[in-house]
Amino acid sequence: GLILGIESSCDETAAAVVRRGGEALSNVVASQMELHANYGGVVPELASREHLRNIVVIVREAMARAGVSFAELDAVAVTEGPGLAGALLVGITYAKALAYGVGKPLIGVNHLEGHIHAVLMEARARAEEAMEMPLLALVVSGGHTHLYLAKQVDASWRYQNVGKTVDDAAGEAFDKVAKLLGLGYPGGPWIDGLAGLGNPKAVEFKFGQIKTRAEKGGRSFEELARFDFSFSGIKTAVLRYVETQGMREAISVRREALAGVAKPTVADAAGLCDGRTLDLIASFQGAVVGNLLRQAFGAAEAFGARGIVVSGGVAANGELRRRFLAEGERRGLPVAFPSLALSTDNAAMIAAAAWPRFLAVEFADEGMGALPQMRLG
Ligand code: ATP
Ligand code: MG
Ligand code: FE
Repeated sequence: GLILGIESSCDETAAAVVRRGGEALSNVVASQMELHANYGGVVPELASREHLRNIVVIVREAMARAGVSFAELDAVAVTEGPGLAGALLVGITYAKALAYGVGKPLIGVNHLEGHIHAVLMEARARAEEAMEMPLLALVVSGGHTHLYLAKQVDASWRYQNVGKTVDDAAGEAFDKVAKLLGLGYPGGPWIDGLAGLGNPKAVEFKFGQIKTRAEKGGRSFEELARFDFSFSGIKTAVLRYVETQGMREAISVRREALAGVAKPTVADAAGLCDGRTLDLIASFQGAVVGNLLRQAFGAAEAFGARGIVVSGGVAANGELRRRFLAEGERRGLPVAFPSLALSTDNAAMIAAAAWPRFLAVEFADEGMGALPQMRLG
């Protein structure tokens, strides 16, 4: 039951060997974060080139750490989409060649399904009683903010999308607001670290109702019961607050000062933020987390979910973890997160998601290509 997983959909080149979808024998990730930080976001051409440079070494390292040979593998799994076309293509082409070369089946995995399985594989490894179906899964990262109703039918998993962002992803809002306030990239960890120092009630941010297709004249229940998100409004609201409060000057000073520090930390940034800025940061994070919480628990209730799993880079957020766990406890609904290592992009989750497909003999053919817009469910 050994599967080699390969992931290259965005800015992490990753490989992992996982046994029976639950036990990671190795999990190697090469992040390109520092490379892209210079540009304040992921540059697709640079990402592809870095994947190409890293993939052979990363796969070799994952195999070595797991202590298994290619001959001992049962399958090779790779992220098919969604993601950057050129970046995906590096992993897919390599995985195809490898699978063909060593005579093993190839399995294509949806990256979002991978994020969901990051939580499930650890729950399985901890040998907790299996979470009851259906589950409500929130995948929240720099590129995605999706809600799925997930359930296992025989060996296979079925997903129904019940909510997604109509504009920015939540992680993108963290990144943009951090940039706007003169903090580092990616923004999440900076805001997470500073939010605890401010008053989350200082500034009020509102999330309007998202107009669903149903409200525009559609009819079906599925269309009515949507739990969509919108995060571009709060980014604009923060910008407006900065303008009206005359915070521009202080932001430039902070940006320059941080740029002058070799390896700036949250403590460095804290020393450069006044109380009003910390209050703004705390209020922003509190509002975003509150909105994610309302939508996720609202959807869980509407669809009768028996538990909630949260994953993706933003699932690393401290306030989000605390509040989701507290709300789950209050409602008697189990809530699970991946460990921090499996919150962000990795290949163990890809190998884990491939396991049910391996059991169901759902293999890819040589025609498999990158699906940049691939949907789940
Ligand atoms: P994809 O969306 O395709 O999964 P990604 O690279 O954008 O790719 P991840 O690597 O899973 O996603 O996560 C990165 C995102 O998570 C960034 O937007 C980052 O700001 C956010 N993030 C990381 N840590 C935290 C945190 N502690 N609090 C809030 N956001 C965080
Ligand atoms: Mg990433
Ligand atoms: Fe991801």
